[in-house]
Amino acid sequence: VTTRTPLIAGNWKMNLDHFQAIAFVQKLAWALKDAKHDYSSVEAAVFPPFTDLRSVQTIVQADKYEIGYGAQDVSVHASGAYTGEVAASFLASLDCRYVLVGHSERRTLHGEDDAVVAAKVSAALGSSLVPVICVGETAEDLEKHGPSAVPVAQLTRALEGVDSAADIVVAYEPVWAIGSGQAATPKQAEQVAAELRSALRESLGDEAADRTRILYGGSVKANNIAGFMREPNVDGALVGGASLDLNEFASIIRYQS
Ligand code: PEP
Repeated sequence: VTTRTPLIAGNWKMNLDHFQAIAFVQKLAWALKDAKHDYSSVEAAVFPPFTDLRSVQTIVQADKYEIGYGAQDVSVHASGAYTGEVAASFLASLDCRYVLVGHSERRTLHGEDDAVVAAKVSAALGSSLVPVICVGETAEDLEKHGPSAVPVAQLTRALEGVDSAADIVVAYEPVWAIGSGQAATPKQAEQVAAELRSALRESLGDEAADRTRILYGGSVKANNIAGFMREPNVDGALVGGASLDLNEFASIIRYQS
């Protein structure tokens, strides 16, 4: 039986500067050290803005708090004349474990298509970062194609050329549920997560499909996380708005208690 360690990840988007990040991560680590709870079975991670990563690295390393972290985006290029871009190797040198790739806000506001997403996945893996590949359908896609066709197609294209041994995470984030306060139901999330796992099986084989974590994202809160986590193919959550509130985010990480 494959056991997948649940991952609860916070996408801060363009919130919290590096001073605020220091305070937040320190307090989060203290909250998670609370002896009354056992967190060893859940992995927590944050995705701060680029400018916070060095500070987050310092806090995480200084006290060996086991909070993972990563960037919200990465360049497809290794280095060179790409003003404003940040290379995967730079993130790796800050000990980032993860990087978000293809978040719906990158896809819609910055025109990232599946080819760009695939190139970013490859750039991340090339620097031993774990890409958190975000996929999801818009309300219009849902109406036209049903819930899983678009996310499955996005994932399949993002995995082109990826080795079956690669360490990746998939985040299913229906665009209509992001920031809307209207989360998918656990059953809806499970249905698409199961389809995404089949797509993983097809692209990367059984071992990768069984080991790869699939997160649900879209208006996850402390009061709805437990329902998602009960679903067999949902292995964690990518949390936006609620990850900016320390108590709320800590409660989401504590979904088992
Ligand atoms: C996100 O943007 O990844 C997200 C899930 O946002 P929210 O939790 O605010 O819906």
